[in-house]
Amino acid sequence: MAITLSRWQLELFTKCPRCFWLLKRHNVKPPEGFPLALNTAMDGLLKEEFDTYRVKGQPHPILVEHRINAKLFADTTRLAAWRNTFQGLRWTDPETGHTLFGAVDDVLEFPDGSLAALDYKSSGAREARVYPSYQLQLDVYTFLLERLGHKTAPKAFLAFFLAVKDDGFNGRLPFRRQLLEVTAQPDRVPAIFEQAIHLTKSDQTPSPGAECDCCRWFGAASPIITRKE
Ligand code: SF4
Repeated sequence: MAITLSRWQLELFTKCPRCFWLLKRHNVKPPEGFPLALNTAMDGLLKEEFDTYRVKGQPHPILVEHRINAKLFADTTRLAAWRNTFQGLRWTDPETGHTLFGAVDDVLEFPDGSLAALDYKSSGAREARVYPSYQLQLDVYTFLLERLGHKTAPKAFLAFFLAVKDDGFNGRLPFRRQLLEVTAQPDRVPAIFEQAIHLTKSDQTPSPGAECDCCRWFGAASPIITRKE
C-alpha cells in the first residue's frame, strides 16, 4: 500500500511516534491547540509583501540587509503550487510508491541557479532561534527540491519577524526582522522517511516521545474521570 506523509506528519513522527502512529493507523488526530490566527494572518501578509518585490524583480529588504546575493524565485506558477497546502513540493519514491510533500513559504534562487528554501517565522520571542522542528522543515524542503530535479544550495533560510514590545501596545505591534542562515541537511531525510513509513505499517503501539506528558497524564487521570459516582 502506497503511503503519503506530509512534512508536518514527519515532524510529528520525530516528536512522538505514538501520536504519529495513532494518526496514521487509526485516524486519531492529536488534540489541536488554540488556532494560531495571528501567525496565519502574518504568514498571509508576508507572502503578499514578498510577492510585491518578486513581481518587481527586486530583492526583499531582509535579503539586502543580510547581504544575501539571491533573488526571490520568479516562477510564480510553480511557487503557487509549492505553497499550496494540499500540493506543495511533492515527491513519490519510484521504487516504493510512497509520497512525501510539504508546502514551502518561499524559495530563493542564487546566481548559479541553485535554489534554497525560505520559511517565514513570526514570533513574540525576543531572539530568533532555530528549533529542531525548523531544521527538519528546511531539510525536508531542500530534500524535496533536490528530488524534483533542482540544484540546491547547501543552505536554507528563516526570515524572522519578531514583535517589538518595548514601547507598549498603543494599538500597534511593530516587528523587527532578522534572517538566519541554516546549513541544510537533506541527506538525513530518507532515513527518517523510511522509519516513519515502517512505523505506519506496524501493528505495535509505540512508546510516547519525551516532549509530551499527555499520555502519562491521561493514564493517571482516566481511572478518576471515568469512575462512576
Ligand atoms: S505523549 Fe503526547 S504526543 Fe505522544 S501520543 Fe501521547 S498525547 Fe500524543
